[in-house]
Amino acid sequence: MISVDAYRETVTELLGRAPVTTVPLADAAGLVLARDVLADVALPPFDNSAMDGYAVRAEDVAEVPVVLPVADDIPAGRVDVEPLKPGTAQRIMTGAPLPPGANAIVMVEDTDRGTTEVRISRAASSGNHIRRTGEDVTKGTIALRAGTVLGHSHLGLAAAVGLAELEVYRPLSVLVVSTGTELVEAPNPLRHGQIYESNSVMLAAALRGLGCRVDVIRSVVDDVEEFRKIIEPRLANADLLLTSGGVSAGAYEVVKDALTGQGVEFRKIAMQPGGPQGCGRWNGVPVVTLPGNPVSVLVSFEAFLRPALLSAMGHTAIDRRRVRARLTEDMPTPLGRRQYRRGFYTQAEGEVTGEVGPRGGPGSHLLAAFTQANCLIVLPEETGDAQRGDEVDVLLL
Ligand code: AMP
Ligand code: MG
Repeated sequence: MISVDAYRETVTELLGRAPVTTVPLADAAGLVLARDVLADVALPPFDNSAMDGYAVRAEDVAEVPVVLPVADDIPAGRVDVEPLKPGTAQRIMTGAPLPPGANAIVMVEDTDRGTTEVRISRAASSGNHIRRTGEDVTKGTIALRAGTVLGHSHLGLAAAVGLAELEVYRPLSVLVVSTGTELVEAPNPLRHGQIYESNSVMLAAALRGLGCRVDVIRSVVDDVEEFRKIIEPRLANADLLLTSGGVSAGAYEVVKDALTGQGVEFRKIAMQPGGPQGCGRWNGVPVVTLPGNPVSVLVSFEAFLRPALLSAMGHTAIDRRRVRARLTEDMPTPLGRRQYRRGFYTQAEGEVTGEVGPRGGPGSHLLAAFTQANCLIVLPEETGDAQRGDEVDVLLL
């Protein structure tokens, strides 16, 4: 048996680091920036008005009320602004360029809104309501740092400094395959002995949530020839083949039978659920084979797949938040395996340590219980049964 940590390392190495690629801003959300972005323009690019009002010289409005002729009108977007003559005002809108010679904006609320001449009722000091060139970003400096997980604000800034594309770590393309002759896809009716397929739906959603591209083969029967025939032609475009089912110790273990001796190694990981696992390369393509029980799939995803995929796509924050919490119930657990139980974590206001109780039993088929959980309770391999009141590790989902 190999430890969860060692296996996580193995899978992380298998996935390596995705190549850098250039994508349009619209496709970059959630991806990791691979290179620093230098600002080719300052933000703001020119001195401009922060208010709708009148551009003036502060010295001309030192004593109020005062009436000034309105010499010009400057809407946002005007590119041929005339200098401000002393003793005059120019009507100006928010975001419009400041006319040379003006050093203050009087907001429209402090005037009679005149268009030929304007009566100003409040004095303005130099610099009032002016947004200065480069106040937000200085031209030539780093606007976004490599390693940034691109959210909408980052994409906005990239757009604002004039970029249409960004260099990112390429999202991995994952081919998800569920195996099992018993699997049926809705809306087909279930016959006794069959179940509806759910793993590929969960995996596809979880992978997309990390930024991966996903291709799904909803179900392959437990037949080695079929398995190879259906999957091999679709491998070429994948960065990872991710299967579920068919890797345990029984008969009809299609994934194990098809890929043993083909570059994929099958072994037992010291974890529960999700013990039987396999990984390696098939025709050069990285392969990770998960067991079939839905909760094993979800726990495997948390225990090693999610961090390995995030790391491959350039993320540095790859771990879920881990906290300590007091158990509200006894929890029997086997020695020698790390057990991941579905739990519900709460932290009362003012309490340093939260509490956690199980949601559902240890059975790896209890999918509904997983949906009611907000964390995984991690019971380490080296300790046996945990008692109510014990402090345990909790991974917040
Ligand atoms: P296996 O690992 O193939 O032995 O499957 C273990 C258990 O998980 C069996 O009860 C399967 O019916 C179930 N199972 C396998 N694949 C899926 C799937 N894609 N969706 C839902 N249940 C599955
Ligand atoms: Mg199966």
